[in-house]
Amino acid sequence: MKIAATSPLDRVETIIRDFWEKAPSNSLQLDSGEKSWAEPHVAIAAGDDPFFARIKEMIGAFHWTPEEAFALAFPAAPATASELRVISYVLPQTLATLTDQRQETTLPAERWARSRFHGEQFNCELRLYLAATLTAAGFAAVAPERLPGFDYRQSARFGLASNWSERHTAFVAGLGTFGLSDGLITRWGKAVRFGSVVARIDLPVTPRPYGDDHHAWCLWYAKGTCGACAPRCPAGAISTAGGHDKPACHRYIREVTTPYTTATFGTGATPCGLCQARIPCEAQIPPALAPKTEELKG
Ligand code: SF4
Ligand code: SF4
Repeated sequence: MKIAATSPLDRVETIIRDFWEKAPSNSLQLDSGEKSWAEPHVAIAAGDDPFFARIKEMIGAFHWTPEEAFALAFPAAPATASELRVISYVLPQTLATLTDQRQETTLPAERWARSRFHGEQFNCELRLYLAATLTAAGFAAVAPERLPGFDYRQSARFGLASNWSERHTAFVAGLGTFGLSDGLITRWGKAVRFGSVVARIDLPVTPRPYGDDHHAWCLWYAKGTCGACAPRCPAGAISTAGGHDKPACHRYIREVTTPYTTATFGTGATPCGLCQARIPCEAQIPPALAPKTEELKG
């Protein structure tokens, strides 16, 4: 695809929107032909945002900064952190998927399982397409999650963790803050998935309407109320006392939901997400915490 002559940010948004609109892989693979995801939204983080170093410090030395991920893809032409931007996007669940998932109490709805499997395959294609399109246009770019070295390690503080976190990247880019269940609450809610690309390009950085407060949009952390995601978890893996119990969550997904969806829908992957539906933050920032529109625009 040729990049048309508008602002650089418009061009990036157009690449993502066009692919979302036209790629046949953006499909739940149902007879209805419906898409896996509702319309995407984009935000930009500075490659040298101090949060990236803090995240590495918190998660572990194995976690990449944007600069490190970029250098892995372009070892002969590395960039300084300040030359880089991290393009982070959010793919919200569709209303139909969310409506189905709200009805479920122990196993994910078929649409949810399909979005986790087919939708994530589309997301992988989108990451690669965005990186390739920018690179072809003269802006070297890489999707860290698609690098051959992307994997999961043991973080002393957080247990199993990947060396590139789409959710933490989205937080730095101003897309949302963490909730009690560890999911990221965005303006389009928590029932979403993320992707990102690191590029040597000059794009305006998106302001973080929540500043440095990584829990600002969760009612439990901000006001001591709600906790609605906890009883949604059939594995008891969320509590107001302890937050998200990752090992218990992973065990339930590995032993219960994945075998179920593989056998029932042939989808594989690792779906659950019951804690992302039928809650006040499923498709929005809880109204009691939502910043004004002007603040969101920065
Ligand atoms: S459901 Fe309530 S407690 Fe759970 S993440 Fe959302 S706002 Fe926070
Ligand atoms: S993904 Fe499923 S098992 Fe994990 S915390 Fe959410 S509801 Fe519980």
